[in-house]
Formats: sequence, C-alpha cells, structure tokens
Amino acid sequence: MSNKKGLAILGSTGYIGKQAIEIVATYPDYFDVQVLTANRNTDLLIEQALKLQPNTVVVVDEAEYKKVSEALWLADIHVYTGKEALSQVLDSGEVEFVLNAISGFAGIAPTIAAINAKKQVALANKESILVAGELVTNLAHQKGVNIYPVSSQQSSIFQCLVGEFHNKIEKIYLTAKEGPLQNIDALHLQKVTKEELCIYSTSFMAAKSGIDSANMMRAGFAAIEAKWLFNLKPSQIEILVHKHSIIDSLVQFEDGGIKAQMTLPDMRQPIQFALTYPDRFKTDSPRLNFTEYPELSFKEPNPILLKNLELAFYALEKGGVSACVLNAANDVAVDAFLNQKISFTEISQLNNDVLKSIEVIKNPVYDDYLGSDYAARQTTLSLLK
Ligand code: NDP
Repeated sequence: MSNKKGLAILGSTGYIGKQAIEIVATYPDYFDVQVLTANRNTDLLIEQALKLQPNTVVVVDEAEYKKVSEALWLADIHVYTGKEALSQVLDSGEVEFVLNAISGFAGIAPTIAAINAKKQVALANKESILVAGELVTNLAHQKGVNIYPVSSQQSSIFQCLVGEFHNKIEKIYLTAKEGPLQNIDALHLQKVTKEELCIYSTSFMAAKSGIDSANMMRAGFAAIEAKWLFNLKPSQIEILVHKHSIIDSLVQFEDGGIKAQMTLPDMRQPIQFALTYPDRFKTDSPRLNFTEYPELSFKEPNPILLKNLELAFYALEKGGVSACVLNAANDVAVDAFLNQKISFTEISQLNNDVLKSIEVIKNPVYDDYLGSDYAARQTTLSLLK
C-alpha cells in the first residue's frame, strides 16, 4: 500500500464531488483515488475516471452500466452497478477514507457501510446525520471511526475544536443568513411568494434550500446536525442571524472564551479540510479582507419565523426518528408551496401536524428511518388533500 490516502469519492459528479475531484487533482502526491461513484451522470463519471484512474467505479443506475463498463474497459477500471454496490466497494483494503457526497436518503446506507468497514468518513451527505444521526454517530463511536464534517457550518465548529477536543463546550452559536424575511410582519408572512424570496431555480434542491433558509428550517436542521456531531444538549445550541456569511458558527468554552472560524463563503475550504485534516493545504480561494466588512453584525431571529426552529428543537428533545419525520414532512410541504398548493406559513403548520402525529420510534435501526420517512411523506401528502 502506498503512503497516499486511499480515497473513495461517493457522488463524485455532484456539486461537492466535483470540487473534491479538483482538490485531489491538485494534490496527486497526497491522494490515491480508489473509488468514484455517480447515480446516472455517466459522461462526467467516465471523464473523471479516465483522468484519475481509480480502481473501481460505481454507476448506480443499472441502465447506464453497459455504457460505463465499455468506456472504462480498456483502462482496466472495475465497474459495478446497483445501490448495494455503493456500500460493497467500500470493503476494499485500498480504501482508507470515504467522502460521502451523495445527495438525499440514498447516502445514509453508504455512510453506515463505510463506518462498519472502519473507514474514516468525510461527510457531506446531510441525511446521514440529520435523519440518522443517532444511529450513525453511535456506530462511529463503537467502531472508532472519525466523522469529518463537510458542511460549512459543521466544519466551522470542527475547525474551532481542533486542539480543544479535551475542553468542554459550553455553547455553540449557529448563524443563519439574514434573508429577505428577517424584518417582515406576521400579516405579510402568510402571503409571501417564492418570487419575493428570489427563488427562480427550477432545481427542487436549490429552491428548497432558499425556502429552508428563509423560514429558519435550515438553521433548525443545522442545530440537529450539530447536536449529533458534537454531542451537545439542545440547551447548548443558540441561533443568531448574521448579516454576512463570514462566521458560520461560534464555539464558547467553559472559561467564557469564544472561537470563530472565518472564511468567505467557499465550499472548497471545508471540503479540503475534511480531506486533509489535521493539515491545511494551500488554496487559491479569495481571502477575507476585513476592511470590506467593517461590522460583522449578529441579532436574534425575527420572532415570527421561529416556528420551524421550535419544531427542530422539539425533534431534538424527542429523539428517535423525530428528525427523520420532520425532514420528510418538510420536503413534501416545501414542494407543495413551490407548486402553489399551500401558503408559506402552512409549511411549518404541516411540519408541526406531521411531526406531532407520528409515532416516535426510540433507538432506531436503519429500517425504522426508512419506514418513518415513508410514513411521514404519506401523512403529509394526505393532509394536503
Ligand atoms: P448534487 O445533487 O450536486 O450531487 C449529488 C451526487 O449524488 C451526484 O454525484 C449524484 O449522481 C449522486 N446521487 C444522487 N442520487 C443518488 C442515488 N440515489 N444513489 C447514488 N448516488 C446518487 O448534490 P451536492 O453535491 O450539492 O450535495 C451532496 C450532499 O452534500 C447533500 O446531502 C447536500 O445536502 C450536502 N451538502 C451540500 C452543500 C452544497 O453547498 N451543495 C453544502 C453542504 C452539504 P448524478 O450526478 O449521477 O445524479
């Protein structure tokens, strides 16, 4: 085995995956890419594989297998297909480190497989922690596997903790971007349209991200992720609205000292740190110029936007599959808003009704998350009728 880090990049054709590919291509003496995977973006997957020469490629969509295997046959790259293959290829002794950048629920099983195979994990896939945080973090603890967060908010907490892991955290402040609704009144809130939120994207994930940000669901989800990744009590997490996306979070220790990690918004920084920890490699990202930000301001969220945040903290207190239920209900509710079936304020109302109506399964296993996700989606759809 070489001294290079044997890497599997799951979801290499996505937004995060592509940036990870750029990073590993910049440091060929440090990384040895063993596995690349995609769902069905075969052209890019083939291009990446021919460039990086991994040992193995997985294309999940079985209809695309023939095209990929024919394209990579001469390069002597093994090609597999099907969702089970995503997990099976991680058993290889050549893979030491897994970056999971798959989107959605499909990313949870590969995270569990990576941990079971005792590979270190850089985690971008949100659902692995948001939906299944209890299962995933307990398993990682049992197997002695470290999880390196990729999301900028969780990475900034992690970066503040470097050199401090023995010190107790008193509090974490997570920042929410100051969106268009932070000064709105209750009457107007009901009538908010997606255009007022500047949501023009046709991609559901991009549009949903804008809605989640505006109604504080995103901040609530970040609180749930932070709880599991950093073993916090809900009372240790506070949300602040921050005008500029410079400080993603602040960590306060028991002596009152506070650390903040700052960068201009740029996902390359947290992706790279997760891959190279504890080292910091040079990047050419734009540098922060403090004189352009004479004040880095913080304030409490608009009180009329707190409903989703309260639901997230309710889910945190309840535990079990609660966050899984909230995530699934929110997906369906946001979709309904984007399709003009419900008003903006009905998103949190639906989330509330579903979260409080579904049985909370304690100590969930993977199938419990799967079942609760399905049940929550069906319940939300039935309430929409
Ligand atoms: P993208 O949609 O851009 O990419 C998703 C990747 O996952 C693609 O490679 C896609 O393959 C693959 N994929 C999609 N569905 C499946 C499936 N069913 N089985 C296997 N592979 C699948 O997502 P992002 O890169 O933006 O995000 C990835 C994860 O990281 C998400 O969980 C997201 O929430 C999280 N994240 C994203 C951030 C961001 O700034 N974008 C920031 C922090 C976290 P294909 O291309 O073939 O469809």
